[in-house]
Amino acid sequence: MAQFRFKALDEVLNREPVKVEREANLTSDYFAMYVFDRPKMKKYLSGGAYKAVVDAIENGTTIDRRMADQVAQGMKAWAIENGATHYTHWFHPLTDGTAEKHDAFIETTSDGGVVEAFSGKLLAQQEPDASSFPSGGIRQTFEARGYTAWDPSSPAFINGTTLTIPTIFISYTGEALDNKTPLLRAIHKVDKAATAVAQYFDKSVGKVQTNLGVEQEYFLIDDALYRARPDLMLTGRTLMGHASSKDQQLDDHYFGSIPTRATAYMIDLEDEAYKLGIPLKTRHNEVAPNQFEFAPIFEEANLANDHNQLLMDIMKRVARRHKFRVLFHEKPFAGINGSGKHNNWSLTTNTGVNLFSPGKNPKSNLQFLTFVINTLKAVYDNQDLLRASILTASNSHRLGANEAPPSILSVFLGTEISKMLDLMEEAVVDRKMTPDEKTALKLNIGRIPEIILDSTDRNRTSPFAFTGNRFEFRAVGSSANNAPAMIVLNTIMAKQLADFKVAVDKLIEDGIKKDEAIFQVLKGLIINSKPIRFNGDGYSDEWVQEAAKRGLTNINSVPESLAAYLTKESKELFSNLGIFNGAELEGRTEVEYEKFIMKIQIEARVLGDMAINHIVPTAVEYQTMLLENVKHLKDVFSAEEFKELASGRLELIKEIGGHISAIKIKSKEMVEARKKANKVEDIMDKAEVYDKTVRPYLETVRFHIDKLELIVDNEKWPLPKYRELLFVR
Ligand code: ADP
Ligand code: MG
Repeated sequence: MAQFRFKALDEVLNREPVKVEREANLTSDYFAMYVFDRPKMKKYLSGGAYKAVVDAIENGTTIDRRMADQVAQGMKAWAIENGATHYTHWFHPLTDGTAEKHDAFIETTSDGGVVEAFSGKLLAQQEPDASSFPSGGIRQTFEARGYTAWDPSSPAFINGTTLTIPTIFISYTGEALDNKTPLLRAIHKVDKAATAVAQYFDKSVGKVQTNLGVEQEYFLIDDALYRARPDLMLTGRTLMGHASSKDQQLDDHYFGSIPTRATAYMIDLEDEAYKLGIPLKTRHNEVAPNQFEFAPIFEEANLANDHNQLLMDIMKRVARRHKFRVLFHEKPFAGINGSGKHNNWSLTTNTGVNLFSPGKNPKSNLQFLTFVINTLKAVYDNQDLLRASILTASNSHRLGANEAPPSILSVFLGTEISKMLDLMEEAVVDRKMTPDEKTALKLNIGRIPEIILDSTDRNRTSPFAFTGNRFEFRAVGSSANNAPAMIVLNTIMAKQLADFKVAVDKLIEDGIKKDEAIFQVLKGLIINSKPIRFNGDGYSDEWVQEAAKRGLTNINSVPESLAAYLTKESKELFSNLGIFNGAELEGRTEVEYEKFIMKIQIEARVLGDMAINHIVPTAVEYQTMLLENVKHLKDVFSAEEFKELASGRLELIKEIGGHISAIKIKSKEMVEARKKANKVEDIMDKAEVYDKTVRPYLETVRFHIDKLELIVDNEKWPLPKYRELLFVR
């Protein structure tokens, strides 16, 4: 067994970096060459068809069949010229991945040949069978058929030899079966609500766009070592492994020079990403050894999420070429940092204003404060929903582990904006302000721009931080689709802004002037949302206590957290805004519970299997070796001498015996716990039982295995160790 491990290590040591050739020296010369973007549409489409698509993107108008036919012809011509032989509707089912089913362009002809064909009908809508995707019972309850429908706002692209068309995935009765449909709905709602509020400040605002920039963290592990670890292969994380004596203590990996093979990988990856129009900007080493990050330039949120999903896909594919495996799991290695996605989120108007950018004059600053304060209130009121959108079996290992945002939601604003809010809170706005008071306030607001650009005003420990011109939601898992987080965030923001508008309009109706009405409502929001503001160290124990005093929730259990989706308030929120109807919300929450159960179940199986088939035999073999040694000592030495010589070995033999017994007993108990949990009918109860009775065994069994790793002969240990996984390259 151990030979397998050493063979893997040899393989790694003999690797050469893969030679990479970029498409061209200048990225701008080939960026988006495989994207059917506006310049290509202009070239391949009639004026009418081009206008129809642009209208659909910008104003959400529908494209009629005749126009769709024209678009399809243009798309086909472009795709075939660029080597495509197939087309596919590409969608985001509820599985944390994307789905595609390729069809060749060919149609048979009467004379027995084929022609390349593609139509508006095939572009606009398809019915992939796809009945195996999770739907949380929606497709059973209503109608089994699922449809994909073209999303013109995310341009088609050629992936390999396949024309890929981004689509939504819905049931026959219109229920969303995917991540994209509700994301588009939420983006639409926040557009409407934010536009209405932005019009208080500028009547000419007609549309507000949601932006998203996703920082993507990941690990790179050599393919040979990966294949020698069944736990990595089957669960995405190591279920056992003692900490390496050195890992990230010295902070020598963070922003360090990127290892040669990793650099080659990144250049190759970027080349592919650029061809597909993904604007990757930043690459660097992260905190843990072999951990890295890519960050693109932010884009419209729906497109940014498509690009993030596509990026993850390419990252896995290109890694294989470089004899790497990418780990997207949030916590592949215990004891060192895990990976996340930072969702950088902002709103911009069609007049070119970022609503989270402090302006240069009091008026634009009042607008800025309006959007910041409404965000605060939305986060405060919906902490539990935000947490439910990001807490999964894998992400729960990372959250609250002193390396990532805790399971408590709080908002970091920085000292200057906090001071601003305090000032507004104290301002006497419930009576008419004196001219002096007004000036004081305006002057102070006017001072924001210089001060907040101070780059020292950063806080890495906050789950939801204001970073100068955007908010950064940092608790999203590295393996997750960003949609759930973005759906919740945009939905609660839409709701909050709508409530805000009602309150302000009411005061205006009562005869209060607009600016003052806005001030008054903002003041109330500042006071009501105060507990969510926290500028201190989010990783500290004091914060946990302080947060409890403030009444903020702190939940690390996935089943408990998911329940937030199903409260009466949540159901009303989502259905009133048309994001999810009852069936959709229940369906996808059920899918999340199911995923949680499956992940724990798989981990428990893999651990049990490895414990009994890999670890116990190795330990027994080593123990036998020690026993034989003791026997020989006894033959050779006097009783007195033997006693002295063998005592250490006998201890060790007992120690190994103790761990072996514990592993066997605990593994058996783990199986029993699973059997019992599997009998629970209700899915929420079952998840709870898995969490409380099965999951703890993953730690208990591991504890004994990791102890054995420290004692057993290195030559015999069957699995690549942490120091090898993280440092042999
Ligand atoms: P940091 O690690 O300091 O947060 P990065 O450069 O790694 O910075 O990532 C910042 C991300 O935020 C990038 O994706 C960037 O495009 C994005 N971003 C910058 N400004 C905005 C904005 N106004 N709205 C949304 N995202 C933004
Ligand atoms: Mg960041």
